[in-house]
Amino acid sequence: MTRTISILGATGSIGASTLDLIRREPGKWRVVALTANGNAADLARLAREFSAEVAVVADEASLPALREALGGSGIEAAGGAAALVEAAARPADLTVAAIVGCAGLAPTMAAIEQGRTVALANKEALVSAGDVMTAAVARHGTTLLPVDSEHNAIFQCLAGNDPAHVRKITLTASGGPFRDWGAEQLTAATPAQAVKHPNWDMGAKISVDSATMFNKGLELIEAHHLFPVGLDKLAIVVHPQSVVHSMVEYRDGSTLAQLGPSDMRVPIASCLAWPQRMDTPCEPLNLAALGELSFRAPDEARFPATRLCRQAAEAGGAAPAVLNAANEVAVAAFLAGQIPFTRIAVMVETMMTRYSPSAPAVLADVIGIDAEARAHARELLELA
Ligand code: NDP
Repeated sequence: MTRTISILGATGSIGASTLDLIRREPGKWRVVALTANGNAADLARLAREFSAEVAVVADEASLPALREALGGSGIEAAGGAAALVEAAARPADLTVAAIVGCAGLAPTMAAIEQGRTVALANKEALVSAGDVMTAAVARHGTTLLPVDSEHNAIFQCLAGNDPAHVRKITLTASGGPFRDWGAEQLTAATPAQAVKHPNWDMGAKISVDSATMFNKGLELIEAHHLFPVGLDKLAIVVHPQSVVHSMVEYRDGSTLAQLGPSDMRVPIASCLAWPQRMDTPCEPLNLAALGELSFRAPDEARFPATRLCRQAAEAGGAAPAVLNAANEVAVAAFLAGQIPFTRIAVMVETMMTRYSPSAPAVLADVIGIDAEARAHARELLELA
């Protein structure tokens, strides 16, 4: 049976991994919408290859290039924020939400409002919108499948079990490229070093988040919403090999873990096939060759991000949206060479103490808080 699919953020790392799997199942999928920000050439190439119904660039300035590249194909081309939301709202059996940052929030919510299935990679959207998003999921009867490898692992370990029996959920963290760096080295870390993740091949923003450990902190908030067992039951452990993707411990002392290669096609495949399974081209694990798996506690003195994220989750309301916006602005500034690596966490903490808007009730509130927090964060950058 052919299923319909839309991929928001099709030109990114998650988009590419998703399309790689779809390419291997000819006839199984019909592509509705593919979207990008400004990368019109790649988007047009993908839209042609997969015979998409519509291709959308969020950045309207890229629309003429997209139109030209799609000329004669019969594929609709559109541009701008409203077009992105319109495309995300088109009926699709499965929508993969893989835009980076809070920019993905409105289209992801539009997909959720269809009441079908959304595979969520775009963690910043859930972190920022929190209860606003989970309430929409419940209201529309949407199935939300987690793409993030840790949350996908937890989802698999929870299957068939009563969440009331969960004693602890442990998210594993690779620790990123600076895991063993001293405080002084961290101050001098460059963007090129930060995006060079030891185990995973990912987009620039999440790679920096992984280096600061904000990625794990954002994932803690994400887990808090996806698996509401209580924040006190969510833990983080550093596991440099990225083989155990997360664990769930039950009241009887059993701990279930999901293991797999460091390849996002594994959790993406689990979402594409759910509740069935599908083949992937990923190398099977060879535990004997790996020899050892190691675990250690995170060091919040060198990497304060997980502490800040836990505080934001505890505070609730607008705090996670403010934290996320500040982090997005700080990461962009770091990647542009404007601030040192260690200032990312400092900026986020400063924003959290100085700016506390009231809790969002609807999507427009979240978008407003995000925009205002970004403006404040940019002011902080100028003052520096
Ligand atoms: P990439 O940077 O590789 O890709 C981002 C995608 O989003 C691209 O298609 C990009 O388009 C599009 N995009 C960027 N900015 C905007 C915008 N303002 N409006 C609309 N579209 C935009 O990111 P990743 O694939 O690495 O990550 C995507 C999401 O998945 C993130 O939230 C990340 O945290 C999460 N994730 C990623 C993992 C990974 O392994 N990569 C693992 C787990 C989660 P364009 O190409 O035109 O710029």
